[in-house]
Parts: sequence; C-alpha cells; structure tokens
Amino acid sequence: MSDFPKLFIPGPTHVPNDVLEALSTPQIGHRTPEISELINYLTVGIQELLYTKNDIYLVSHAATGLWEIGTKNSVKKGVLHAVNGAFSSKWALSSELNGFYTERVDFEWGDGIDIDIIDKYLSTGKFDVFAMVHNETSTGAMSDLHAISFLLKEKYPDIIWLVDAVSSMAGVKIEVDRLGIDFLLSSTQKAWGLPAGFSICSVSNRLIDISSKISNKGYFLDIHTYRKYYLKSQTPTTPSIPHMFGLKKMIEKIKSEGLENRWKRHIDMAEYTREWVLSHNQSFFTNKNALSYTLTCINNIKEWNIDKINDILLSQGFRMDRGYGKFKGKAFRIPHMGNIYMEDLKEYLEIFDEVLCQV
Ligand code: PLP
Repeated sequence: MSDFPKLFIPGPTHVPNDVLEALSTPQIGHRTPEISELINYLTVGIQELLYTKNDIYLVSHAATGLWEIGTKNSVKKGVLHAVNGAFSSKWALSSELNGFYTERVDFEWGDGIDIDIIDKYLSTGKFDVFAMVHNETSTGAMSDLHAISFLLKEKYPDIIWLVDAVSSMAGVKIEVDRLGIDFLLSSTQKAWGLPAGFSICSVSNRLIDISSKISNKGYFLDIHTYRKYYLKSQTPTTPSIPHMFGLKKMIEKIKSEGLENRWKRHIDMAEYTREWVLSHNQSFFTNKNALSYTLTCINNIKEWNIDKINDILLSQGFRMDRGYGKFKGKAFRIPHMGNIYMEDLKEYLEIFDEVLCQV
C-alpha cells in the first residue's frame, strides 16, 4: 500500500505513477523552441478533445481566475448567472465583486439548469453574457449543453456564452464549435487527472473581438495578453512547466485510449455507480434528469456512518468524499473520472462494501 491514500474525492483526483514521472521532467526555458513545440502539441491535443478550432490558452493558476478572465473580457451590459450549486454561486459572487451588473437565476441544488427559465431572464434584454457551470461538482448535477445551445442559437445569438467545465472537461464529450460555446474553462485536477494549479480555456473569435472593445481589464486577465503570446506558441508569464509535461502525458494517454472510448468509459462508470447506489437502497441527491457522468452524489438516506466509513477506508488506503460543505455526512460523492478506470471503481466499491459490513 502506498504511503498516500488513493483519491476517491472529486478533485484533486488520482494521478498514476507514469503521470507523476512526467511531471518531474527536467525544466526547459519558457522562451525557447522546445516550449513552443510542447505548447503546439498541447494546443492541438486540446482542440481535438474539445472539437474546436478556437484559441486554447494555458494558464498557470486555478480555474477560479478563469471565471474572471471570462467575465472581464465579455461583460458590457450585464451577466446572467445560472446558480445550482456552490461553484456556480461563487462565480456569480465573483461577478458581483467585480462590479458587473449581475443577476442570479437560482435552481434547486441538485437540479440541472432549466432552459425555459433562462429564456425568461434573457428575454428581458438586460444581459449580454450568460455564465453557467456544466457539471456542478458540489451536487453532481450535469446540465444539458445541447438544450442551452439550441436556445441561444435560436433566440439569443448575440449573447456570449461562458461555461465552467471544471469537472467535466476531458471526461464528457463537449463539442465546443458545434455548441457555440464562446468560453469554456477547466482546471486540471479533475477529469484531466493532473495536480491542481493549472487551467485551460478555449476562446472564440467573437469573444476576442468583443474583448478588444472593453477597456480597464488590467493586464494579467486580459485575453489579448494571452493571445499575443499564443500566436508565438508561448505563454505571457513563466508557466508551470511540470504541468505542461503532465498534460502532454495525459494527452498521449487519451489518444491511445481514443476519445469515444474515453467518453464511453465515463458513462459506463457512472452507470455502474448508479446501480451500486440503488442496490444499496440509497438514493441520488441529484435530480435523475441531471445525473453527472464524472461523479455521483448520494443522498445518505440509510444514514450510514460516513465518518466511520471514512476512517476504515483510509486505513485501507482510500480517501473517500464525505460530502460538500453543508452536505457533509448527508450527501456524499463518488467520483469516477480521469485516471479512474472501471477496475479501480469496482475495487473501491468492493472494499466499500466490506467496510459497510464493519460499521
Ligand atoms: N468550478 C467547479 C465546478 C469546481 O468543481 C471547482 C473546484 O472544485 C472550481 C470551479 C474551482 O476550481 P479551482 O480550484 O481550480 O479554482
């Protein structure tokens, strides 16, 4: 058994040894042909994974910073935030604190986003930007991007669409160009299966154009700062080069797995977990129409002693999730993404079953 428990929390997620080794590749200069070659490889790999020709910016900080890159470069009139969990609520807070005209449209935690309600809000004409979280990690609710894309294309083609895909990118198929997502963001510690502290975004040409008409964005979060260096296959600041080598390794692994196989693996693991939940007479915290492919949030109606289960699982080398914030003990989550394969999930759930016999 490793000195460190295997992570079964919804981020950071498990990083296997071959990826850890890639992270410790010797450093290279950040203004050299070697880094440009590396960045070009990453850019093309990410564009393929996201089915897009959009610019891809690599950012050496947490995804939370990308929330602000998205809004600072797009909001002129107002931003509508769909709020259905902790992360979408924090992103709305970030917009309020930035001084943008912000409205929240609240959904029950555990529900996906209802497009009829979004339609009602957008029809007021008060907004030029719509921001949402695709996969609410706090509740395991995944919203339907296709339905939202349809609404925006049909009725609000001028609205800029910002999507947080922190716990879905690289685990769920997201066809950026087909859907028309202007700004899609993620950090690397979830379905990418890398350590935290590094982020990725795809940016549409129209968002780049709109950003040029917005002043007072500062320097660090201005999309044009990124674009200037993107065109040279570099990053504006000294990047986290270990993350870039780790990302290269992950893209290689994704290529050898195959994209369609990867999407299917995540769906299969989600279905396996859901069956496990029902066979234990537990229920889903998440609305059944919005169950996520990358994590499952379980309503602990059987009142299992989560702290005790956690202690035993830890002693056996596994770090479980005990529930997000106020849901601790009441609604716990099982992640199934990134470097977790079906055999890892089955092993975890088998051991979980053994632990259940002891509590
Ligand atoms: N958005 C979602 C959906 C998340 O789950 C998280 C983190 O768990 C974040 C944003 C924040 O990401 P980061 O910690 O990289 O800023």
